Amino acid sequence: MSSQVRVRFAPSPTGPLHIGGLRTALFNYLLAKQQGGTFILRVEDTDQKRYVSGAEEYIIDSLEWCNIPADESPKNPGKFGPYRQSERREIYTAWVKTLVDNGSAYYAFDSNEELDRLRKEQEFLGQTFIYNFTNRQSLSNSLTLTEEDVQRRLQSGQPYVIRFKVPQGRSLEMNDLIRGRIVIDCNTLDDKILFKSDGMPTYHLANVVDDHLMEITHVIRGEEWLPSMALHVLLYEAFGWDKPEFAHLPLILKPSGNGKLSKRDGDQLGFPVFPLDWNSEGSITKGFKGAGYLPDALLNFLGLLGWNPGTDQELFSLEEMVNAFSLNNVNKAGARFDIEKLNWFNQQYLAQMPLNELVVSVRQHYPSLSKVSDEALSKILTLIQERLEFIADFWNVAHYFFEPLSAYNEKALARVVKAETSSIIASVRNVVEAQDDCSAAGLQMALKAWITSQNIGFGGVMQPLRLALVGDLKGPDVFEIMSLLGKEEVCFRLARFQESLK
Ligand code: GLU
Repeated sequence: MSSQVRVRFAPSPTGPLHIGGLRTALFNYLLAKQQGGTFILRVEDTDQKRYVSGAEEYIIDSLEWCNIPADESPKNPGKFGPYRQSERREIYTAWVKTLVDNGSAYYAFDSNEELDRLRKEQEFLGQTFIYNFTNRQSLSNSLTLTEEDVQRRLQSGQPYVIRFKVPQGRSLEMNDLIRGRIVIDCNTLDDKILFKSDGMPTYHLANVVDDHLMEITHVIRGEEWLPSMALHVLLYEAFGWDKPEFAHLPLILKPSGNGKLSKRDGDQLGFPVFPLDWNSEGSITKGFKGAGYLPDALLNFLGLLGWNPGTDQELFSLEEMVNAFSLNNVNKAGARFDIEKLNWFNQQYLAQMPLNELVVSVRQHYPSLSKVSDEALSKILTLIQERLEFIADFWNVAHYFFEPLSAYNEKALARVVKAETSSIIASVRNVVEAQDDCSAAGLQMALKAWITSQNIGFGGVMQPLRLALVGDLKGPDVFEIMSLLGKEEVCFRLARFQESLK
């Protein structure tokens, strides 16, 4: 086996990539990049019944959007291809033969009806049917039939499967990089099917054969595959191959912390669980991208779902995450999906976004701003950038720069307007009108001087002033707003406000 780290993300193209799958891809990517290794995308499409067209492209596009593309994939093959299991059938056929020949696997001809009957029988006795050492000697398979009979059945085209012969009476010791030592009593395992009657391998066979042939050093995957680990380890032994390291990642839990996060939770609670929009027969499920999340924010959030850097640091660029990542710091316990936290990350990344990029994003989202100059937009964005959780918040936060006010917040009016407010606003308007230097600093100086000379409270001026300009008591620095609106518009708004007070 090569000493170079080689990891793989091995999704089945049965639908869009779920957020849990994306986290698995990310952790594989992080380890590969940190170790100067290779990150492989292998498409596990042996189950033709569950195959969904478009899913493979979707997975590749999602990794690209997140900026974690695979080094080797069906789209970008390396020397270990093909990277789609459906194109590797002969490989599995040849390797499963090796197992039959060395006695680790056997042909089984039991019909579905017969197996169903046995299952029901066991159920009736309150037991579960498993195909293993307890009954394999009395069933219809190459362990019980004569060699001649087996050949005759195979040649006559009788349907068969190939099962793994789990060693009896063995206690199997394994190591998981996250969970540590795991011991399994092999007598509890069943003789899983490795090869199906349709000439296709099952997941277990294809997965192990490919991980070996692709020289995978670390199998990093979701916890739901932990129960398969014993079989996989036994398969490596049966082939006489070195096994890779295993790391089973903790589940991503519902926001409530009870159970695994599902698409239903997202639908119910109103957040995406897929990276990109997914179009299924005309019905579109919104992904994180379409919902306005930045890929860097999503990755940062996902990185901390199950991994902790061992410090208080929360904001990690992808490069920082690559440097800090370690499987040793991946938790065993499930990680709760907290959409508020993701929104916070999105806000942090929007706040850090270079102004010119932000201008482009805002323009893309609001074509109606085409007449506003880059300069004006940049100035406004500088003031409100850190208030945006999403680009789509822009209008809500900054509409008053572009359109006349339609109303004043009633509650704010009730709180702020006093008997003297109207005359104060009239005086402010006079000060502004007389002002030559209408920069924020100039306006601030002039107004402060006037307030001091009048011996009135600052709040009694600034709050109605803000209300007159913004329609509410929110927003950035009032003098910056005034300077951006311009003298004429400010005076107009003050006059209107005064009018409304009558
Ligand atoms: N094809 C499996 C899946 O869909 C891969 C599991 C593994 O990584 O071994 O998740």
